[in-house]
Amino acid sequence: MSEAENRSGRPGAILLDGSATARTIRTEITERVAQLKTRTGVTPHLAAVLIGADPASETYVSMKQKACGWVGMRSSVHRLGENATQAEAEDLVAGLNQDPHVTGILVQHPVPKHLHEPAILDCVSAAKDIDGISRMSLGGLINGEPAFPSCTPAGIIELLDRYKIDIAGKKAVVVGRSIILGKPVAMMLLNRNATVTICHSRTEDLARETREADILVAAVGRPELITGSMIKPGAAVLDAGYNRVAGRNHDVGDVEFESARLVASHITPVPGGVGPMTIAMLLRNTLLAAEGFVSEKR
Ligand code: NAP
Repeated sequence: MSEAENRSGRPGAILLDGSATARTIRTEITERVAQLKTRTGVTPHLAAVLIGADPASETYVSMKQKACGWVGMRSSVHRLGENATQAEAEDLVAGLNQDPHVTGILVQHPVPKHLHEPAILDCVSAAKDIDGISRMSLGGLINGEPAFPSCTPAGIIELLDRYKIDIAGKKAVVVGRSIILGKPVAMMLLNRNATVTICHSRTEDLARETREADILVAAVGRPELITGSMIKPGAAVLDAGYNRVAGRNHDVGDVEFESARLVASHITPVPGGVGPMTIAMLLRNTLLAAEGFVSEKR
């Protein structure tokens, strides 16, 4: 893509177009799924575990199922009620580990509060942990051992790579330290030889930190917390935030896009930036799990 195309006819930063990049990745995955089927007869199969009745979780799972269909994968949903016990949840996952037709397992976050989510995630076998958020997979990320990377952080790194933004040697600042987003993306940037700072709600002077960043990742959940004046000129800005704001007709990121795009060199829009990359990475992990599954059986 040329710079002119990326600029969408407006002055300012080059758009990191997650929707277009995710489409490209889905095309690549579709071809590989077809090849895998022809070569081995195996169709990747993502099994989603959905516990309780959270409407947002229902939506996310159905989006993931739809995406599986687009690339020729199978998917299934395995439900437990709001009052499910820890043992029922763990047994369900254990059964899916044993199921030879299931090549990837996803436990939709969040599970009901009375359940211990990390323990349920830990039941997912490493070979099928396509969401990459079990303690085993996160430990693998820290050790630099192969594991499926968690999907939103992987999507952020993939966008940087596809737009040829250098990571090694750069100063990266991640705002947010959640276990699904802030911490793993910081670790991935560190593994790629960035010098990484992690900020959070107790950071004393957030703007002082963010102004140092060549690569700035916002993973906070506070609408438009980061404004243009907090960004180093020429920085690449990746906004994972997804916030509902009354009176706005679309979700809003953690970065104030209009002021930020005048300062940054590259920026993700919301929506259409990091969000679509998350599902693309889930599909990629599911494909890789199925390919590994085939080679293990040989
Ligand atoms: P989270 O678990 O609530 O974590 C938010 C982090 O932001 C925490 O570490 C918190 O610090 C920090 N924080 C809160 N207020 C802050 C402030 N004023 N200054 C600096 N740091 C502050 O959220 P999450 O699950 O990581 O999600 C973050 C955002 O990403 C949300 O908008 C979410 O919807 C979005 N998200 C998007 C995707 C996607 O697919 N695109 C996937 C997952 C999440 P403390 O640790 O000190 O509390």
